[in-house]
Formats: sequence, structure tokens, C-alpha cells
Amino acid sequence: MQESSNKNKAVLTDNKLVESEIRYRRLFESAKDGILILDFESGKILDANPFIIKIIGLPLDETIGKELWEIGLFSNKEESELAFIELKINGYIRFEDMPIQSQNGKVTNVEFISNVYPENQSIVIQCNIRDISERVLAEKAIRKSEQNLQKQNTEYAKLNKEYSSLNEELTKSINQIHHINNDLIIAKDKAEESDKLKSAFLANMSHEIRTPMNAIMGFSEFISDPELSQDNFIKYIEIICASSQQLLTIVSDIIDISKIEADQFSIETAIVDINLLMNELLVTYKKIGSFSKVKLHLSNDSPDKPIQILTDGNRIKQIFNNLLNNAIKFTREGEIEFGYELKENFIEFYVQDSGIGIAPENQSIIFQRFRQVESNKKQLNEGNGLGLSISKALVEKMGGTIRVNSELDEGSKFVFTIPYTNKIE
Ligand code: ADP
Repeated sequence: MQESSNKNKAVLTDNKLVESEIRYRRLFESAKDGILILDFESGKILDANPFIIKIIGLPLDETIGKELWEIGLFSNKEESELAFIELKINGYIRFEDMPIQSQNGKVTNVEFISNVYPENQSIVIQCNIRDISERVLAEKAIRKSEQNLQKQNTEYAKLNKEYSSLNEELTKSINQIHHINNDLIIAKDKAEESDKLKSAFLANMSHEIRTPMNAIMGFSEFISDPELSQDNFIKYIEIICASSQQLLTIVSDIIDISKIEADQFSIETAIVDINLLMNELLVTYKKIGSFSKVKLHLSNDSPDKPIQILTDGNRIKQIFNNLLNNAIKFTREGEIEFGYELKENFIEFYVQDSGIGIAPENQSIIFQRFRQVESNKKQLNEGNGLGLSISKALVEKMGGTIRVNSELDEGSKFVFTIPYTNKIE
């Protein structure tokens, strides 16, 4: 009884083993990974499944009994033996990416894992081989696209740099255009302003010329009257002379300004005795001043010593005429002092009055052509706005400068310098 139940158990166990063997075989045959079974001692192949057979391209019967390097799993015997030693020491070995060269030369990339297992009375090595060629291809594609991306990035960075420098140049050009535009607007404004000033000047000029002309013509007619008294005759002749002088000044100013504009006026130098020149001016302006409530003084820095320099005396007189006429014109009552001071390298001439003065905002514009202080223009409708600009051009042509110090209602001091280097001792 006991014996038959033992027999039954043995039969059952045998049956289970057979079933398990069948299942194992099915898995082995259909696996989508390669499986190789090797002898632990010799390293020779004991079994191989169809998947690995397909990869290595050798029939199963030719595969069995071979070592791994012989079927293309390692490139040579030494490499294969080294791996075998490592496996024996660790009981495990893994190569993440290993090429297998099949019989027809095709290379397949695989992941290779070996483990050591006891089997019945012996020990075997099981090698699991996974085809990773698709993964390798995908990685290669990723690497390539990364490289392409890097290349594109580099090109983009280069383009970006070029774009930045183009942008910079564009900004520069735009700024330049803005500048040019601004300059053009300024030039246009100036041209319009100068056009306006010239029109105003012409209108003013015709008035300026007509006034003395009318006086000359009218009084010339009166003096031809045979019944005219001696007193009136003299009075009319004086008016004709003064008007002629006024006309001459206007015409000279127009000629001067035209020459200045055309850069055609010249300075004619000769030895000039400054004290003599100043005294001549005093005599002339004492006469003119005697008609007004203005007291005129001359203050020479060195009245006794002859100051002789090489310069254009007529031009200096012309400047003084402009300044003194203005001083008289804009000082209805008060004092005018003119003279000079000797400085290190130049003479400083001046005309100082106690007249209406000039507001700070007008002190530079009065040196421009045709410019007059608006409020004065209404008050005193005389002059053409050229005297100071002519004086400035003359002074600068002689190497000097001209300036004004003034306060509204406190009077003005016009100062101009002439280099003293031409002094004759
Ligand atoms: P004009 O006297 O013929 O108008 P100028 O060029 O000599 O031309 O002078 C320009 C302007 O400067 C004058 O119209 C006047 O407004 C101002 N100006 C010149 N000199 C004086 C002065 N001494 N006092 C006050 N204003 C002055």
C-alpha cells in the first residue's frame, strides 16, 4: 500500500516535470530575446533559441559546441575569455551595448546579460541577449538631431550677432538721419527767419531811404524859392546836409553788409595814432551831442604818450560811429563815456552810456544782422539793425572780440578789443 502511494507520487512528480519542461521549452523557443545556455566549465554553447540563431546566422547544430567569440559575440578569443573570467568571479556579467557580427557580416547591437545557475548536478551559464538596434538607431537619430540643433543654434547665434550689429548700424543711421533732419529743420527755420528778416529789412530800408530822400527833395525845392529868408535858407541847407549824411550812412551800411555776406571786405592797415583818432571822434560827437541832453566824455588810458599801432583807423572809427550813434540814440538824457584801456596784448575800446540798457535775453541777438530789440523798435523807429553786426564782423576781421555789459534801465557798456601786437614803440 505504502509502496504503491510512493509510486503514484513519483509518477505525479515526473508528469509535473515534463509539463514544466514543455512550458520552459515553449518560452525558450518563442522568446523575443536571444537565449544561450553555456557550459560553466568549458564556456561552450549547450543550447541556443531561435531568436539568437537568427541574429548570428548559423544553424543550431553548427552553433552548439562553439564558444561565444566563434559566433561573433566578442571580437576575439581574449576578450571572450576575460569576460568569462569576470563572470566566474561575480556570477554575473552585463554589457549594455555590444555588437554581434553575424555570419553574413551584418552587425546587430545587443544588450548582453549572463548569469550562472546550477542545473541538475552541473552549473550552466544563461546569456540573455536583447536586440537594441532600434534603440541604438533612435539614440543615433537623437544624437544627430541634437547635433543639428546645436548647429542650428550656432547658426542662429551667428545670425543673431549679425542681426544685432545690423540693428546697431540701423540705429546709428536712424540717429544720423534724426540729426540731419534736426539740422535741416534748424537750417530751414534759419532760412525762413532770415527770409523774414530780409523782407522786414527791405521794408525798413525803403522807409529809411525815403525819409532822408524826401527831406532832401522837399527842402531842395524850398530853397529854390526866391522869397525864402536867409535864416530859413540856412536851416533848410542844414536839414539837407543832415539828411544826405543819414542817406550816406544807410547806403554805406547796405554796401558793407553785402560785402561782409560775400566775404569781400578788406582791412587796410596803416600806422594809426590812437589818441589822435579818439580826439577826432570827440570833436565830431561833441557837435552832435550839443543838440541833445547828453554829456560826452573821452577817457584815454595814455593820453600823453603817442599810441601808434598798425591797424585800419577808418574801420575803428566806423565801429565807434556805430557804438556812439547808438549810445546817443538810446540815451535821451545822461552821460556817455568812451575811450580805451591798454592791456597786455591788446587795446580795449569802449563806449559806455547811462541809457535805456538791454535785457539779458537780447544781449546776443543784437549782434545778429537786422536784429533790433522789439520794445526799442516801437519806441525809437530809427536804425536798420545792421550797425552792431557790421561792427562785430569788422572787429573779428581785425582779430578782436566785441561784447556788451548791460542792465535794463541802467545803461550799457560796449567793449571791443584790437590786438596790440602791431604796436610801434
Ligand atoms: P540799429 O541801431 O540801427 O537798430 P544796431 O545793430 O546798431 O542797429 O543795434 C541793434 C539794436 O541793439 C538796436 O536797435 C537796439 O535795440 C540795441 N542797442 C544797440 N545799442 C544800444 C544801446 N547803447 N543801448 C540800448 N540798446 C542798444
